[in-house]
Amino acid sequence: MTTGVLPQLDGELRERFRRTQSERTLPIARMAYAAGAAFMLLFVAWDALLDSGAIFRTLPVRGACAASFAALYVFAKPAKAAARLNLLNLLASLTAGFGVAIVMAMLPRGFDLGIAGLTMVTFAGVVITPSWRGSVNGSLVVMAAANFVVLLTSQGWFTLAQINGFLGASLALAALLSFFLEQRHLRAFLLEVQLERAATTDPLTGLYNRRYFIETAERELARARRYSKPLSVLMLDIDHFKRINDTYGHPVGDEVLKTLAREAAPLLRKLDVLARLGGEEFAVLLSETGGDGAALLAERLRKSLSELTVRALGATLKFTVSIGCAEVMVNSQGEDILSALERADEALYKAKESGRNRVVVG
Ligand code: GH3
Ligand code: MG
Ligand code: MG
Repeated sequence: MTTGVLPQLDGELRERFRRTQSERTLPIARMAYAAGAAFMLLFVAWDALLDSGAIFRTLPVRGACAASFAALYVFAKPAKAAARLNLLNLLASLTAGFGVAIVMAMLPRGFDLGIAGLTMVTFAGVVITPSWRGSVNGSLVVMAAANFVVLLTSQGWFTLAQINGFLGASLALAALLSFFLEQRHLRAFLLEVQLERAATTDPLTGLYNRRYFIETAERELARARRYSKPLSVLMLDIDHFKRINDTYGHPVGDEVLKTLAREAAPLLRKLDVLARLGGEEFAVLLSETGGDGAALLAERLRKSLSELTVRALGATLKFTVSIGCAEVMVNSQGEDILSALERADEALYKAKESGRNRVVVG
């Protein structure tokens, strides 16, 4: 269904995008934490070069920051750490903010270098944070930390203005970059979702297609086997659909298909899978449902659909469906989804033969 219109970023998609972004950024963030630890250690050597006496004062700060970055590197290792990435980045920003600012306060001669380092760290931190909002928050924390230290160590208004000037400009630029990066990722993500939807849904009704149905059903069968849970399938076919097309025209036939899709979906549970297999033939996958439950649901579906009145393109009509049910033989290794669907199809055929508008259990 390549309509050219990207999918809407609703609640569920937004959550998926956030997860995708975090998973994409996690390895980069880890590298940044490792670089943070390495830089802190390199700075020790730099301090020694600048002022060999100062190294004893700065070493504990540098060491604590390096250890903090190393810990973040370790905490970010498990894949599930992606969910905590905002927090990890915030801690990294704090480490950078306090670490650099404290040392700057201790080493007046290292001031310019310190500002450059802090600016760089903030910039990198902002750009690698998965969401631009998160990145702005992280930068504000760094700024607050730096200001706090500068004020606490009474370094004067000039230093304060200087640090905020550098940091503010860097932050604004990085946030802008982060925003554009996020928009680019979002577009790529939505395109991917659009392609995925096109591959798994039927464009006319918006229901899942045959391919998705079979794939999901196979997965569900494996799950049902593992947990010894029942599983059932329904095959549903509109009665005398050809007559509807012939009488009212193909576009009205299409409206009937859409109406069926719209009205049947709310009668099912969220986990059930309703798909259009092709033409005017639909299938339903009912997880954790045995033959009796499936027959009950099928009867409810049949009855509800038969009570509908379709009003479309000036035509008013009613339609009925025939349904074949089959419980998948979860305990028989010889059974697969296709054989269960075949049994449901045979039951459907019997329903047609015995007069239509009825449910037959296979
Ligand atoms: P039965 O009660 O035995 O199921 O009879 P039927 O007329 O429904 O069955 P048949 O399989 O002979 O006819 C199916 C018709 O569905 C034929 C085909 O033109 C029509 N059809 C298939 N796909 C579409 C579609 O996307 N839109 C419309 N409007 N008609 C379709
Ligand atoms: Mg039919
Ligand atoms: Mg048919």
